[in-house]
Amino acid sequence: DQPSTTYKRVLLKISGEALMGDQAFGLHPPTVERIAREVKTVHDMGVEICMVIGGGNIFRGLQGSAQGMERTTADYMGMLATVMNALGMQAALEALKIHTRVISAITMNEVAEPYIRRRAVRHLEKGRICIFAAGTGNPYFTTDTAATLRASEMSCEAIFMGKNGVDGVYDKDPKTHADAKRYDDVTYDEVLSKHLKVMDASAIALARDNNLPLIVFSLDEPGGFRGILAGEGTYTIVH
Ligand code: UDP
Repeated sequence: DQPSTTYKRVLLKISGEALMGDQAFGLHPPTVERIAREVKTVHDMGVEICMVIGGGNIFRGLQGSAQGMERTTADYMGMLATVMNALGMQAALEALKIHTRVISAITMNEVAEPYIRRRAVRHLEKGRICIFAAGTGNPYFTTDTAATLRASEMSCEAIFMGKNGVDGVYDKDPKTHADAKRYDDVTYDEVLSKHLKVMDASAIALARDNNLPLIVFSLDEPGGFRGILAGEGTYTIVH
C-alpha cells in the first residue's frame, strides 16, 4: 500500500555536489543510484516528478571566471556540467525501470530533448520523470533559478530542495554553531532580509512572485523524501 499525499506534481532540486558522495569531484555512481531509489519511492506514490540537478560537482561558472575565464564561457561550461549530471541520473532511474526524459535548455538533439513546455507537461502526465538540464540556458543564472522557472512553468505545487548534511533552513550554519535553530517555516522576505542560505536571491524572489513554496529537507535518510510527501519528517517550508 502506498502512503497518500496531497501532492500531484513536484520539482526536486539537488545540487551537483549531492551526486559526489565522498569524492571531491564528479559523479559517484552508488550515490546517484541511492538518490534514484529515493525518487522512485515518490514516483511509486503516483506523484509527477520534475528534477533539476546542479553542476557544481563538475564546474561552476564563478570558479572559472575567478581564474580569468570569461564569465559567460565559464557559465556555459557550468550548464554543460548539469547535462552530464542529468544523463547520469537518467541512467540510474532507467535502471529502476522508470521512464525519463532529459530536457535541455541548450539544444543538443543527439543527447537530450529540446525544452518545449507542452511536450514536457505531456511527459509528466504519462508518468515520465522530466530532468531539466542546462539550467535556464542563460549565463549569470543558477540552477536554483532554473528550478524555480521550470517549477512555475510546469505548475508544480512545490520545490523540494534535497540537501546533504542538513535537514532544513537554520538561523546560522548548524555545522559551525551548536546553538543554530532550524525554522519550521519562514517567509521568502525573511530569507532575503536575513540572508538565509536557501537559494540565491533571484531564485527566491521568483519563487515568492509565483507563490511557489520551497521545502528544504535532508536527502540523507532513506525514505526521507517519500516521508515528507506523506506529511512526516522534519523540514523547513519557505512560503
Ligand atoms: N549556470 C548558468 N545558468 C543557469 C544555470 C547554471 O550559467 O541557468 C551555470 C553557472 O555557471 C553555475 C553552473 O552552471 O555555476 C552550475 O550550476 P549551479 O552552480 O547552480 O550548480 P549547484 O550549485 O546546484 O551544483
